[in-house]
Amino acid sequence: MRTEAYDVVVVGFGNAAQAAAFSAHQTGAKVLVLEKAPKAKRGGNTWFSFGAQFRHVHNGISDCKPLLPHVPEKEWEKIDVDPYTKDDFYSDIMRVTRGRSVPELAELLVNESYSTVKWMQESGIQWEILYSGAVPEGDRFRWHHGSSFIHSKDGGAGLVEMWYRILQSKGIEIRFDTAAARLLTDDKARVYGIVAKDPEGFTEIHCKGVVLACGGFQANPAMRAQFLGAGWDLGKVRGTKYDTGDGIQMALDIGAQPFGHWGGSHTTPIDADAGDYEAGFLDPANRRYRTHRYAWTLGIMVNLDGRRFLDEGEDFHAYTYAKTGAEIVKQPGSMAYQIFDTKIKDAIDRYHYAGATPVEANSVRELAEKLEINPDVLVKTVEEFNQAVMEDRPFNEVIRDGKGTKGIYPPKTNWAQKIDTPPFIAYAATGGLTFTYGGLKINNRCEVLDRMDRPIPGLYGAGELTGGFFYYNYPSGGGLMRGAVTGRIAGRNAAG
Ligand SMILES: Cc1cc2nc3c(=O)[nH]c(=O)nc-3n(C[C@H](O)[C@H](O)[C@H](O)COP(=O)(O)OP(=O)(O)OC[C@H]3O[C@@H](n4cnc5c(N)ncnc54)[C@H](O)[C@@H]3O)c2cc1C
Repeated sequence: MRTEAYDVVVVGFGNAAQAAAFSAHQTGAKVLVLEKAPKAKRGGNTWFSFGAQFRHVHNGISDCKPLLPHVPEKEWEKIDVDPYTKDDFYSDIMRVTRGRSVPELAELLVNESYSTVKWMQESGIQWEILYSGAVPEGDRFRWHHGSSFIHSKDGGAGLVEMWYRILQSKGIEIRFDTAAARLLTDDKARVYGIVAKDPEGFTEIHCKGVVLACGGFQANPAMRAQFLGAGWDLGKVRGTKYDTGDGIQMALDIGAQPFGHWGGSHTTPIDADAGDYEAGFLDPANRRYRTHRYAWTLGIMVNLDGRRFLDEGEDFHAYTYAKTGAEIVKQPGSMAYQIFDTKIKDAIDRYHYAGATPVEANSVRELAEKLEINPDVLVKTVEEFNQAVMEDRPFNEVIRDGKGTKGIYPPKTNWAQKIDTPPFIAYAATGGLTFTYGGLKINNRCEVLDRMDRPIPGLYGAGELTGGFFYYNYPSGGGLMRGAVTGRIAGRNAAG
């Protein structure tokens, strides 16, 4: 077998791997990056992160400004953004994960978040203000508390490109069409290299440290059925088809510890007509049509029986979207309809429903007929909902307005408005799997741990394939942030 030698081999070419490669390079290491995808499809789920929002701790505008040196002063004058403290971020993670996130890992993510986005900016990543997370108030923009404030320029594709240029400018070698196949261990159980598979065959690459940053198992139907449960093998995947759990599997094969919420996943509401893979976009080539369906907090959502099945206004979608897709998957036909009336048409436009095919009708009964839902049931659902809407407080999309329902189950806790102004509009949604939560156990040096909780020498993990951060649910902007934080640490430590 061909044999080569490097200091650090990084597996994957998404944000976590790119951060790891650059960070290892900064220590002076000779780095090789292996990307399973062909060059044209490089970048993993990171490429698909249309919004590419990063959740990080900040002290308001004074911390955000250094991240965005190109933003002129007069633009800042129109911006209202409250501080997002370490306590805020940590308690958001704990709240949405029902207290299950591992404290050391949650702290790592929170504590390293600001220094990491700053490091990225200093390394050449350009940030932009995430205006899609703001609600306009006159000529000002307000971010609700906990909404991410920055995204990478030109979204996830832009992030992949910026990292690519940075790595190239440093002479870091990247091999496309080359998959890590298995890890090499010596008799001290130390990882001393990796076997890579390219179109020519296998190569042994020896190194001091391997960083696995090659995604979750969401694109592997066999693992989905095995760990998420029956039916998930048929589900739609929002991102890359190359994240098939390879890194997780090859680490488990040498005794790594399976960790975290193996039965859980980040699954969001997407257009019911989206494709099986790359389903975040109907047309990945030009990224024009978005399939996110995140405006349901402003209307109601019913299943094919015409019944509501969750609290649509439980919280801002940033804190519920990642679990709501899985709730849809549990419904008959793995489908739901999001129903709105004309009062909030502007808001739907803001949520980028362009490209979707709405079903419109002048009455709820007619809408039900068009949707092939039992009209009596849907009319009753909407009437009961309308009667339950509390009218004693104003609707306000920017805050948790407490304008809920009374006396129905499930309740709607915020943003409840009567559905009474025709035409009525429905959008068909299903669950789109973004990434899986279960993976490898790492410590705060991002070393992969064995089943006795001991680091496996020479093996590091970063990004989606790490378990223990997210359970049940997830706060938006946490995936890319976790990838950058863990990639940066793993790369630095893998270099020795
Ligand atoms: C539509 C969509 C929108 C999203 N929006 C956001 C957002 O706004 N904010 C946010 O924080 N998160 C978002 N996410 C989640 C985010 O994309 C991921 O959490 C993050 O990109 C994961 O980074 P990663 O580097 O760990 O994995 P990936 O970016 O998936 O990279 C994994 C890499 O490993 C490669 N690979 C796989 N197997 C092998 C192998 N055997 N050998 C070599 N290479 C291999 C893949 O080809 C890929 O390059 C979104 C995801 C999707 C799909």
